[in-house]
Amino acid sequence: MKIVAATIFALQIPFVEAFAHSIRHRAYSDAIVVRVVAADGTVGYGEAIARPYVTGETVESCRQFMANTLWPAVQQQDYPPPPADASTGVDWLNQVSLTLPSDPAGSGRPDPSVVAWHAARTGWELALVDCLLKSAGRSLGEIVPPQRATVTYSGVITVSGIEQAVKVAKRFKQFGLSHLKVKVTGRDDRARVAAIRDAVGAEPLIRLDGNGAYTVESAIAACDNLAEFAIASAEQLIPRGNPADYARLQAATAIPQIADESLITLADAQALIATQACQGFNLRLSKCGGLAQTLAIARLAEQANVFVQVGCQVGETAILSAAGRHLAAGLPQVKFIEGSYGKLLLSQDISRMPVQFGYRGQAPVLTRPGLGIEVQDEAIAAHAHQTLRLATTSRVHH
Ligand SMILES: [Mg+2]
Repeated sequence: MKIVAATIFALQIPFVEAFAHSIRHRAYSDAIVVRVVAADGTVGYGEAIARPYVTGETVESCRQFMANTLWPAVQQQDYPPPPADASTGVDWLNQVSLTLPSDPAGSGRPDPSVVAWHAARTGWELALVDCLLKSAGRSLGEIVPPQRATVTYSGVITVSGIEQAVKVAKRFKQFGLSHLKVKVTGRDDRARVAAIRDAVGAEPLIRLDGNGAYTVESAIAACDNLAEFAIASAEQLIPRGNPADYARLQAATAIPQIADESLITLADAQALIATQACQGFNLRLSKCGGLAQTLAIARLAEQANVFVQVGCQVGETAILSAAGRHLAAGLPQVKFIEGSYGKLLLSQDISRMPVQFGYRGQAPVLTRPGLGIEVQDEAIAAHAHQTLRLATTSRVHH
């Protein structure tokens, strides 16, 4: 199947007010939506979230890479339909993923400011997969068969005043969430975690996420200091860097450490496993490069007895949420799951039916064709602040 046209939308969807002030740097989702049209007229949607402090991609560089590198490569392909036999589904995903170049067209070498063009590639991989599956009337669940009927999401308490954090924690508890992730910075950790534990009681699992704010020494000290609050795991306390540093941290504490920003590529996964750097991996589609590459990392983790968490990107729309749902449902073992916040976070989402989780953080597997959601072009148009139309017959221009 040939892809005959594509559009790249840079969105700005305002966050709902209650969350806007607790998320630093921006008050809106800056998701990039990729819309592809196949020769038979089928439309598919993918999504990328560019984070300079994760993969090195910015919204602008991601759009450029999509238009100048990915689109020219996609145009040349004649994509195979999804296989009838689910056992070869992952091979088909790999085939689609491999048509997307890893480095900027014409350069022949990597861009030193970018770890990997994973957000960009994810946006296109998802759009192609959605389109090809829809064209065949098939669901992604037939390619990545669900291992569970329901997916259970965690609440994430972002950095803000302790009083506000406690308020959010109580709201999550009322909503029946049994998994909470608390963002920590090294400044008021003990008071924050103590207040949250006090507010929610002993039952909910509490995990920490430091987003690289600690040194190895201060991370070890923080784990010692917070262990009494029954911490289920600590994510990326130290910055991305030498896996040996991570191994030193993990060896010094009983709290399972989860790699997030340290785990972007398959090579990262191999290095973390080889050094026994951590007990868990945080898999995020837009960070790890799409379904095919994320599943490959998950397989490595499984073989190495590293547990996995399915994470998300703050501000993701229904497209990445739907893809994340399939991933979370399809992995043989998954410890914690984040995402599908929908209109808890976004003032408007772009799917006809909401994808956000319900009471107890639970959400069903998606079974409709493609990624399983119905994207509304009007909603995309309403929030698009930059639109780039690409067609096979014309040169790429801006
Ligand atoms: Mg994280």
